[in-house]
Amino acid sequence: MNKYIKEAINLSKRFLKNRKYGPFGACVVKNGKIIGRGSNSVVKNNDPTAHAEIVAIRNACKKIKSYDLSECELYTSCYPCPMCMSAIIWANIKMVYYGNTKKDAANIGFKDDFIYEYIEKLASGKSNSKVLKLKSLNRTEAIRVFKTFAKQKNKIIY
Ligand SMILES: [Zn+2]
Repeated sequence: MNKYIKEAINLSKRFLKNRKYGPFGACVVKNGKIIGRGSNSVVKNNDPTAHAEIVAIRNACKKIKSYDLSECELYTSCYPCPMCMSAIIWANIKMVYYGNTKKDAANIGFKDDFIYEYIEKLASGKSNSKVLKLKSLNRTEAIRVFKTFAKQKNKIIY
């Protein structure tokens, strides 16, 4: 077995020793070296964003002191949820290897699959918005900040 996916799967087993971890693990690899590890720590940290991939990305960024993981690969025990997928893209990671599928996650009660379907409906305007409502407020004021930002020289767009 690939040693990095093996590490991700090992990290997904932490719940066996501490039930506050969820059954997901991930690691970030740069030039063959693991630079960040994560286990699902949502309950443990009281943090709904503490999915394995996010924790691994945070640790990797801290380790290399950069927000840019473009030379890295991510190994995760399960296909990333939409939140993690977004974080992976924001981090510039170009390759993800995964073990379980999103259907496998849905089969044990996790909402990943549901969220993907929801986003598709939202994007196509077919959502009935029972789960989440979105409404634009005070755009005229908010847009001023964007305009000021856009005028800056040497701005970092990330
Ligand atoms: Zn996730």
